[in-house]
Amino acid sequence: MGIYTDKETIIDEHLAAFSINKEIPKVIEQSALKALSHYPELKHTHIRFLFSRKLKKSVMAARPVINTLLQSHDKRVYDILINPVFKLTQSIEPIHHLPADVLIGWFGHELGHLMDYEQRTVWGIAKFGLLYWLSKGYVRKAERVADTFAVNRGMAPYILSTKEFILGHSELSTRYKQKIARLYLSPDDIVELVSEMEKKTQPEKEELLADETALAQSTQEEDN
Ligand SMILES: [Zn+2]
Repeated sequence: MGIYTDKETIIDEHLAAFSINKEIPKVIEQSALKALSHYPELKHTHIRFLFSRKLKKSVMAARPVINTLLQSHDKRVYDILINPVFKLTQSIEPIHHLPADVLIGWFGHELGHLMDYEQRTVWGIAKFGLLYWLSKGYVRKAERVADTFAVNRGMAPYILSTKEFILGHSELSTRYKQKIARLYLSPDDIVELVSEMEKKTQPEKEELLADETALAQSTQEEDN
């Protein structure tokens, strides 16, 4: 393995508390736990962070393990699939070489999707999968929900680092950047969301999130 793998990572006690029922490769453990520490609701949820070469066009993806969905809710398992490499136009970078804040923001976004799945029944998840596949408008809403969860959990600076890293990266393909700009919240949207959130009390924030989720769940989608 490369020279980076022998870099010893000491996980402090605070972060270690978020490793219950989690499977995380060592090289990304610190960043993954840091993101998880923003989601106390997921403390006992079984989540596997897996390197996967199956992801073609994306860097990460969050999905439930299908055969665990038919069991009781607390037995659900979720996977966060991670492309082990970050493809640039001229080169390839191992994913764990990304700046820590960027990686934490990326995990925070994926965990936002899990929060959304957690609120859904098995049929709600099936509907989500189908609509996500069928409708660009629905993708946009689902991505907005994930970012909104992360921002509401105090992860705005990380989410911003991730967006700015992607949109400002000179060695990322224009196509990928266009996809991100089209489907995801922009850095400006996030700044706006933060100031919106700052004005609200916690119950109001939860209500806003419920509205966002309901919006994403609504089946009357306009596609384009
Ligand atoms: Zn997403």
